[in-house]
Amino acid sequence: METYSDIRCFLVDMDGTFYLGDELLPGALEFAEAIEKTGRRFFFFTNNSSHNEAELLDLLRRLGYDRPDMHVIISSHVAIDYLKRNRPGRRVYLLGNENLINDFLAAGIELDDTDPDIVMLGFDTTLTYEKINTAARFLAAGKEYMATHPDDNCPLKNGFMVDAGSMMAMFKQSTGRMPSVILGKPYGYTVDYVTHLIGCKREEIAFVGDRLATDIALGAQNGIKTALVFTGVTSPSQYERSGIRATATFDNIGELGKVLLENPYVG
Ligand SMILES: [Mg+2]
Repeated sequence: METYSDIRCFLVDMDGTFYLGDELLPGALEFAEAIEKTGRRFFFFTNNSSHNEAELLDLLRRLGYDRPDMHVIISSHVAIDYLKRNRPGRRVYLLGNENLINDFLAAGIELDDTDPDIVMLGFDTTLTYEKINTAARFLAAGKEYMATHPDDNCPLKNGFMVDAGSMMAMFKQSTGRMPSVILGKPYGYTVDYVTHLIGCKREEIAFVGDRLATDIALGAQNGIKTALVFTGVTSPSQYERSGIRATATFDNIGELGKVLLENPYVG
């Protein structure tokens, strides 16, 4: 059985893993306690680039999880880091809501809606026909094309919201193009970013999540341990039929916490 005794830092997905809608999922608080008691650390990581960190920390507090050392990493942070390291000074046409725009501006990235170098597609909950049309014209003109994350839909308690991956399909239909760089889970740059940010080696981290194509594929593609929880978008029977393998599976994140309590970190 997998014990995670070599894992010091957990990167924990939010929607469908730690909470769903306006409720913490069963075992969320017990998992957090197990992390603390066994001398480990955990960080939230979400692909949902329609939120900023302050908003998600507020949400966690409202749901009853409140610690002084909470951190939320978002795919948008990875995208900003990628641009600053690899495309310094380039001007970006950003498809995003006010949260995403403000995070990009605060990071010193120049936004340009007339003659950008790069089109960056985020989870734009304020997408309009005008923005779609402007972005499609830039893509048809050959501007570099990136996206903050690949998810098709974002789960809600009673349904879903259309997410960036579905917007990609629309732009593919219009222009024939897909992003040449996608950030967030499951892509390798995200692993480099988080290990550097939190100061853990690749072999000391594990990703916990409910979605095979992002949370679990990240581990499978990058040689990193994962834990799949069945409280979100993946059912046990869907997992059985999938080719994507998790290191271990759990009914909920609290069950992972129990394994951690029984198997302290030995670095
Ligand atoms: Mg999720």
